[in-house]
Amino acid sequence: MYDAVIVGGGPGGYAAALYAHNFDLSVALIEKDLVGGTCLHRGCIPAKSWLHSAEVLDEVKHAADFGVIASEPTFDWEAGLARKNKVVGQLHKGLSGLLGARHVDVIEGTGRLAGPGRVEVTAADGSSRVVEGRNVIVATGSRPATISGYDFDGDRIVSSDEALDWPRRPERAAIIGAGAIGCEFASLLSDLGSEVYLFELLPQVLPGMEPEAAKVLDRALRRRGVQVATGVEVAPPRIGKKSVEISAGETTVKTDVVLVAVGRAPLTEGIGLETTRAVVERGYLGVDPGTMMTAEPNLYAVGDVVAGTPQLAHAGFAEGIAAITHIATGSPAPVDYRAIPLVVYSRPEVASVGLSAAQATAEGYEVEETSHGFGGVGRAIIQGEAQGTVKVVAQKDGPILGATIAGPLAGEMIHELMYAVAWEALPAEAAAFIHAHPTVAEAVGETLLAASGRSLH
Ligand code: FAD
Repeated sequence: MYDAVIVGGGPGGYAAALYAHNFDLSVALIEKDLVGGTCLHRGCIPAKSWLHSAEVLDEVKHAADFGVIASEPTFDWEAGLARKNKVVGQLHKGLSGLLGARHVDVIEGTGRLAGPGRVEVTAADGSSRVVEGRNVIVATGSRPATISGYDFDGDRIVSSDEALDWPRRPERAAIIGAGAIGCEFASLLSDLGSEVYLFELLPQVLPGMEPEAAKVLDRALRRRGVQVATGVEVAPPRIGKKSVEISAGETTVKTDVVLVAVGRAPLTEGIGLETTRAVVERGYLGVDPGTMMTAEPNLYAVGDVVAGTPQLAHAGFAEGIAAITHIATGSPAPVDYRAIPLVVYSRPEVASVGLSAAQATAEGYEVEETSHGFGGVGRAIIQGEAQGTVKVVAQKDGPILGATIAGPLAGEMIHELMYAVAWEALPAEAAAFIHAHPTVAEAVGETLLAASGRSLH
């Protein structure tokens, strides 16, 4: 009998398994595919490898701006794919090794809840066994969702799963959905030379994020030739032998492939939840936010399957840690969702933490918004990346509630604002610290200074 049996070895499940060693808990981790889950094999890591390849190509293309004369670069798609696979392989090996070193029993097979504390595991050869635990954690993750008329066929209509493994560059690609995944693909495909069409139902790219930041990315994508259409609904595709035609309003485009990036659906069907008291809404599992426990005693859920929490790898890590801490100590250890950063790794990057101005207003705050551009920031100019903006949202005469950065190193710099949001710092308190010169982070310092009622540059 294990202390915890975890079903699903993605970020939520493997974080729970790894963290258990802090409390000397015995753990079984059941995985039907490869430990690492979506994030490592079909998500964060492979997408960022492709994005980095695209960034390097762009840097070499513009090397002459910095006085470096290089011959016109070309992109070897197969080499980019091989590098992506190498990075994934290296991290998979490292994770497998670490799970072994922490004495986690990784059991290959598909898990299904079979009564309190019991999980039936069916192996690829059809054999099955029951694994027992004092606690069970559901961490089965998610799969790509699609819209009516766009059933995935793996060829013309694809999800990010296939797109990350394309054997060659599509000449033309239409992307439906301009959220984080859609924008990252639009960014990397346009950098690598594809003709890209990006369709979004809502009025802006990166729906839900600060409109100013969305505009920075929208403009950057259009400058690189991406045809962006927002506030449009696509009609069902007409799939031909050699191309796909899709229409949205007045626009009709012919493309080689359609990448549907409209979100992800939880993977909770057929895992035996009907035998429990857990509350399942539209496939998502309801949990007590203090403990990650479902309505079924000693049955926990973490990661993308959880209702109402961000579908992000690091949210899954935090939830896995919270569940294990509760199992080990009996005390609630709630995740602080207010301060979980979101990073879009497009070029330029866009990152946010806490509330946007619109969200804060909707929550009843009287807000003060302060923005500062990268235009006068020395390091950003040196690097040729002086487009973009930092925005801080604070309660009037109160603490910082949220922040968004669109521009160079946004995904790294957002973490200083993460502390400001988490610690409910007043703008003046955060502004009292001195940023090194010249750094792109000075844009954050300038914004905080202005938010405190004074400004320098
Ligand atoms: P998953 O990672 O989906 O893992 C679930 C695991 O459970 C899988 O390995 C699956 O095989 C296994 N499983 C399922 N059912 C069973 C069963 N019955 N028995 C046994 N095993 C089972 N997030 C970020 O934070 N940053 C990013 O930059 C980012 N980029 C992304 C890019 C793309 C293209 C995509 C698709 C996603 C991205 N995400 C990103 C989201 C991130 O990948 C997910 O939020 C994260 O993987 C969720 O972790 P999880 O553990 O809940 O589920």
